[in-house]
Amino acid sequence: MPVRRILTLALLLAFGMEFGRAWAPPTASAATTTKVTQRYSITATLDVASGELDAIETLRLTNRSGIAIDHINLSVIPRALGYLTLDQPITVDGDEASAEWTTTTNLRVSLAEMLRPNDTAVLDIPFRLAVGSSRGAFTARLSRDNGVLSFGEWFPILSREHDSYGVGDPQVSYTAESIRLDLRTTTPLARDAVACPGLVSAPEASGTRWVCEADDVRDFSFVVNPRFHLTTRVVDETTLRVYTETVSGEVTADKAVQALIGLNQAYGTYPWPDLVLAEVGASGGFSMEYPRSIHLTRSKVTDTYLIYHEVAHQWFYAQIGNDQQREPWLDEGFADFSTRWLMGIGENQCSTRDVDSPVFAWDAELISGGDWQSCDGYFHAIFYKSTEFLNAIRARMGDAEFFAAIRAFIEEHRHGVVTTYRLLDHLEDWNTADLLPLYQAYLRAYDPGVAPVHRPYRPALCRTIDCRDDRPIQP
Ligand SMILES: [Zn+2]
Repeated sequence: MPVRRILTLALLLAFGMEFGRAWAPPTASAATTTKVTQRYSITATLDVASGELDAIETLRLTNRSGIAIDHINLSVIPRALGYLTLDQPITVDGDEASAEWTTTTNLRVSLAEMLRPNDTAVLDIPFRLAVGSSRGAFTARLSRDNGVLSFGEWFPILSREHDSYGVGDPQVSYTAESIRLDLRTTTPLARDAVACPGLVSAPEASGTRWVCEADDVRDFSFVVNPRFHLTTRVVDETTLRVYTETVSGEVTADKAVQALIGLNQAYGTYPWPDLVLAEVGASGGFSMEYPRSIHLTRSKVTDTYLIYHEVAHQWFYAQIGNDQQREPWLDEGFADFSTRWLMGIGENQCSTRDVDSPVFAWDAELISGGDWQSCDGYFHAIFYKSTEFLNAIRARMGDAEFFAAIRAFIEEHRHGVVTTYRLLDHLEDWNTADLLPLYQAYLRAYDPGVAPVHRPYRPALCRTIDCRDDRPIQP
């Protein structure tokens, strides 16, 4: 941590203590953090026929940073899709709070009083969604197609300030202690109509109330389809629940089992009691990963690559997080690499881009656009070229050492957020293999004479992210 930041932090702490709770910094010092403990409890009523969800979200958060904060940022992706109504006041500790949109999807909520380190605030956020048919990359996220409702990136969640984006994953979030959904439906549905991780209670045969609660997750998703049938499997301590309509579910379940067994061995045992795979209503678009939950498009519901890829995200994204907009290769590259390694197939990429390109390297709108498929597109650079890069590292380190190093890295950072530098430091430290020439060949962060990729993190942002991760390795 640079000396200047230590001083700033010490001053903030000293002033805060000296002047007591009434003290507030000037506006220029507006401060926030993502280092918080979070617990979400969402009570919602869903009309399946119309796609309308009426919800009240309670977010209990405790400031775990070293500084007092005066606001938090919530990412609300449904606003970019045009599905959101937020017309009731948000309250903090029971008092109406001021809130403003600073991007299309970032809602900045002011805290009436400075929230000191280790202090807790309780936010109540009433919101409504009218979910329609989404297109492009969003069909398996938040969408309603063929009578199936898919809820991904659907509720306000603590984030760093950012906006939705049409390329890559649109939301950055951080592990919560728990996320609980108490869902009621306006008409009775069959017990298996709701696919959610952490199912606590459901109707005996048919009914209107489901409760789900997932611990240690950085997001929470669910899918509702009155015609779902359920297929289950058990792998060690984990139950897989596979919800499908157009296929039996057996093939999908068996492939997910194979992936889970292989990845448990490669990267350390999956830490949660369940994993849900659910078929969404749309055929096209992209399947999508959430913690303990996978949404599969209809065209890919039995696809081996797709199932393995999304299960691999349960390690790379769900367990160890990354900033998916700034460094998407950290989860997508490892998901692609792991899949191809499990399947015994190589990559065949034709990209001239750097592996560590941000999603913004490709032009796109908020919820559409972007070159995903061409040689110059997102998949070739972020997925396939990353695999080539990781295979080159694996060859240089040796198989056993490479996987041991990754297992140790996951163990150390489980439920946290990692960066490129943090990972590559770790690999370089692991054994005597000289990895720098590979880093220089594949990553713009290591191009001689080019500013390290993380320097766009302005010093002010070090209050919202862990800047200690972003020191350059090369002097
Ligand atoms: Zn992926």
